Amino acid sequence: MPHILLLEDDPAIAATVVFALEREGFAVAHHLLVGAAVQAAERQLPDAAVLDVGLPDGNGMDLCRRWRQHASPGLRALPVLMLTARAEEMDRVVALETGADDYLTKPFSPRELVARLRALMRRAALPAAGAVTAPALGLFEMDEAGQRIHLAGEPLALTRMELRLLGALLKSAGRIRSRESLLKEVWGALAEATDRTVDTHVKTLRAKLRECRPELDLIHTHRGLGYSLELPGDAR
Ligand code: CA
Repeated sequence: MPHILLLEDDPAIAATVVFALEREGFAVAHHLLVGAAVQAAERQLPDAAVLDVGLPDGNGMDLCRRWRQHASPGLRALPVLMLTARAEEMDRVVALETGADDYLTKPFSPRELVARLRALMRRAALPAAGAVTAPALGLFEMDEAGQRIHLAGEPLALTRMELRLLGALLKSAGRIRSRESLLKEVWGALAEATDRTVDTHVKTLRAKLRECRPELDLIHTHRGLGYSLELPGDAR
């Protein structure tokens, strides 16, 4: 039974979500406060999290960002669906840039929420976009669980979307990938992701690769065309 962490301080919304999820066979742990959700997630890793933005003791976006940047590998890769109050472009962009995998704007239909969560969890269960292919072995290696990539023996602290992006770039190493094709492969049905989403993730991914191996210039920008991953000669 998939275990969902729900962080929502509005009792009516929480009750609707809990009812819809339990009816579909999910186990739901509902929390009203950021502090309680943090503790619960550290005690037992959920299969996915649904986070409200405005909470009495904090902000769901900050929590998501914190998980993506500082938490255990499990929490870094946790599928997160954000519940935003307004359909404003800024909120959507920010929700995705905090590392959330998807978001819904209130009011939303409980069926839509269940469908989106199922999609996120299906995607999370896939290996990272077919990640590491033979030519890349040696420099990049995937761990047995298919959850982490090592660069020259060192584990990379990547978010799940960064992992999928790296997987997509590795599959087509040496070739230029347009933003559109990366969007389609990495973000899939997430229509709200934009070219800027790709740029933002390339930026953070590149920084993490450089932090690990400053001497390697792995991701190249091709102005007006897109990005490519260039492996050093001996790793091809
Ligand atoms: Ca709220």
